[in-house]
Amino acid sequence: MNPLRGRQIVVSSEELKNYPTNEYQHREAMILNQQLYCQRCNALIIRQENVLPNGVFFCSECQEFGRIRSDSYLVSVRGQGGEKEERSVNFTWQGKLTQLQTHIAQQLQKNYQAKQSTLLWAVTGSGKTEMVFPVIYLVLLKGGRVCMTSPRIDVCRELYPRIVAAFQEEQVLLLYGNSKEKYRYSNLTICTTHQMLHFYQAFDLIIVDEIDAFPYEGNSVLQFALKNALNPHGRLIYLTATPPNHLLQEVQQTFAIEKSPLRFHQRPLIVPECIWYNHWEQASHSRFHFKKFHRMILELLKDNHVLVFCPSIQFMNRLAKQTQTYFIEGQVASVNSTDPLREEKVQKMREKKYQVLFSTTILERGVTFEDLSVIVMGANHPVYTKSALVQIAGRVDRKGEYRRGRVIFFHNQKTIGMRQACREIKEMNQLAKGWLSK
Ligand SMILES: [Zn+2]
Repeated sequence: MNPLRGRQIVVSSEELKNYPTNEYQHREAMILNQQLYCQRCNALIIRQENVLPNGVFFCSECQEFGRIRSDSYLVSVRGQGGEKEERSVNFTWQGKLTQLQTHIAQQLQKNYQAKQSTLLWAVTGSGKTEMVFPVIYLVLLKGGRVCMTSPRIDVCRELYPRIVAAFQEEQVLLLYGNSKEKYRYSNLTICTTHQMLHFYQAFDLIIVDEIDAFPYEGNSVLQFALKNALNPHGRLIYLTATPPNHLLQEVQQTFAIEKSPLRFHQRPLIVPECIWYNHWEQASHSRFHFKKFHRMILELLKDNHVLVFCPSIQFMNRLAKQTQTYFIEGQVASVNSTDPLREEKVQKMREKKYQVLFSTTILERGVTFEDLSVIVMGANHPVYTKSALVQIAGRVDRKGEYRRGRVIFFHNQKTIGMRQACREIKEMNQLAKGWLSK
């Protein structure tokens, strides 16, 4: 098989002769449609800014994936969307799906067969990865090629061993910016959404995990690359616990929308308690303003460890320092995106080494801690969108026994984001009740 199958590479006009047109498709790297656009990332080329001394233009939007110029070509293998041959696939997953998970898994397969893409709206902790295994199996059986992608590297790394365990005989490929493995052809690829820029009409099914996460959300380059990587007959599955309104609108006409409102352990989501805190911004400045926070921490610690979300690093550091004075050394820690010990601290929290961990929004998704309560300081701060608040609330009671975990939104103004987050959580719990009574 041609190793370039499904890839697109940038070649100069001199190199083009090495890729004969009976086997390869040539596309100009940039197209003129009144304005000049890059065909790899769809960016508009600003001619005054992106011109070389010889009058050739280049794209600055996607240059991190290798320079692309107006006199170069995108080369890919011809005829990839055609009929596929069925093959045998060994599905080695040992787990068992719940009744609702089985229903969702069947819907995903049905939609795929009906040539329809799906948005799976599955609450935090619902076990959405397991629900997509059967549709992956179906596509592989039909000889198709599957990609599981996520905007976040840590999600990809976490997915990899689980997918490998479910399909032990497949040569699963894991790709991201600095991944150890170089590209090779594989029927089952796991990669970051950035890697999509290297693919062209490659996949019969692309599953995007955490589609609403940074940096995919709001990034038109990645969104264009994703659609380009899907073959013309291919289907998409978007996975999210918190679909933004614009995404729901975008897919309303063309996608099936499936909702999975029930957590894997069958308990409802924890509804946030919105508690007025007049001067939460001053909590680290004076004992008086700190008192309310301190009391809540002590109360929550009776049952669980506490994760405190803060809207800025500066605020977080001050509040953590103040809190530390009431605890034994090492029981309180803080973590942010620039922290070199980030992974280590997250691991320590998993091992329940800290009483209280302070964090910026970096821990809003993707992490699971047992026996946890959560406080959001200043839930009315603009960094906390509806999605962020739903994700944060979703950190509590994810696994293990029920331990009366609580979600506290301290605020001094109720925002639309807070209202929507609480409403959405209650609605999902209501939907879940319907499933539980079946
Ligand atoms: Zn570009």
